[in-house]
Amino acid sequence: MPWNKEFECMPVEKLKKFQLEKLKETVELVSKKVPFYKNKFKELGIKAADIKSTEDVAKLPFTVKTDLRDNYPFGLCAVPLTEVVRVHASSGTTGKPITGPYTREDLDQWTECMVRNFWAAGVRPEDIVQNAYGHGLFTGGLGFHQASTKLGCTTVPTSSGLTERQITIMRDFGTTALMCTPSYALTIAERAEELKVDIRSLPLRVGIFGAEPWTIQMRNEIEERMGIKAMEAFGLTELGGPGVAFDCEAQNGLHINEDYYLAEVVDPTTMEPLPLGEKGELIFTSLQRRAMPMIRYRTKDITSLSREKCACGRTFLKMNKVYGRTDDMLIISGVNVFPSQIESLLLDIAEVEPQYRLVVRKKGYLDQLVVQVEGKKEIYEAGKDKRAEVEGKIMGHIKGNMGISVEVNLVEPKFIARSEGKALRVVDERPKQLR
Ligand code: ADP
Ligand code: ZN
Repeated sequence: MPWNKEFECMPVEKLKKFQLEKLKETVELVSKKVPFYKNKFKELGIKAADIKSTEDVAKLPFTVKTDLRDNYPFGLCAVPLTEVVRVHASSGTTGKPITGPYTREDLDQWTECMVRNFWAAGVRPEDIVQNAYGHGLFTGGLGFHQASTKLGCTTVPTSSGLTERQITIMRDFGTTALMCTPSYALTIAERAEELKVDIRSLPLRVGIFGAEPWTIQMRNEIEERMGIKAMEAFGLTELGGPGVAFDCEAQNGLHINEDYYLAEVVDPTTMEPLPLGEKGELIFTSLQRRAMPMIRYRTKDITSLSREKCACGRTFLKMNKVYGRTDDMLIISGVNVFPSQIESLLLDIAEVEPQYRLVVRKKGYLDQLVVQVEGKKEIYEAGKDKRAEVEGKIMGHIKGNMGISVEVNLVEPKFIARSEGKALRVVDERPKQLR
């Protein structure tokens, strides 16, 4: 089934009933099969029977990344390993990897969620799909591969890297749909320009990009440079990888696969649930996963939820584009700063490339933010005065919009390492004990 209208457009009341039934099943399952949850529920005096509405999820304890690390590799499994048919692991952006085990049923659900993502992005069985997400332990590669195969697209599993070869294949095979991280899409676009391959005139027409935060401005940049529609995927290893939420033709928020995931947004300091529309930390409870169900997993991703009527007809809750992870949030002069805010401002500046890095240093007692951004070749080569002028312009733009003073270094073209997967945006040079 390319898209599951019965669920994706289900009246909200009916959907909530379905979620409640699955939530109870999940709580029942983990309280029997996962000692970690069994003990937690016992401590808090919680039983499956206490869950009478989906809002009652707030009675349940949170699960955090360290819980997964402490129970590494299979301590949180609700089924014996003989029923586990696949194990992925997180890319470990922020430390030791965590595992993502799947039963056969979990794999089928994951594929279904991703097929919905493809369909909503406008990908069809006729498409030639070049899958440049890293194949391997990272959930991106195989997650997209399964959906592409299931939908009947012509799947080309290039994996990430070897950028010139990506471009050759794109041209020779007539790729129509590209799957990769947004930062890698930009790397491909740039390399093609250097090789004088005009991607805009190739058959490529759509991309599904995800696995890292990117702004609307970055989306516009990619759409413009490749001449495509840039759609989005969201997910995380702990919840089964990409396919948790997906873009639709409205391109103004990602629909959450609500029959599989119960979403909440909480205040990250008080941990109290926030109403729809308010920005906070995104929390997910899996509703049908079997190998490693998750109760109120704290994603550390900051966003807000909304249930406004969507032009596409889907009733699934929407999450806004992720602003960033709390891990990447910087506090500069008392102001919370996400790299995405700086990204969107840098993309307003015509004299720079969309390649940047944020370096955090200590200056006395204060944190200092240095924005390194590549100047366009002709600007960089125009000399020191021109560079200083552009740096001043960027500083003013950031000060004017965010109220913070930063140092800007216009660096030479190619100074910043190009991404083939998740881009590294923040370099923290503060002594460990002062972070
Ligand atoms: P790691 O935590 O090691 O990076 P994952 O590959 O599981 O491992 O990454 C999941 C995280 O990637 C999410 O929690 C989120 O921070 C980020 N992410 C995934 N998709 C998106 C997206 N579309 N927009 C913003 N961030 C995303
Ligand atoms: Zn929609």
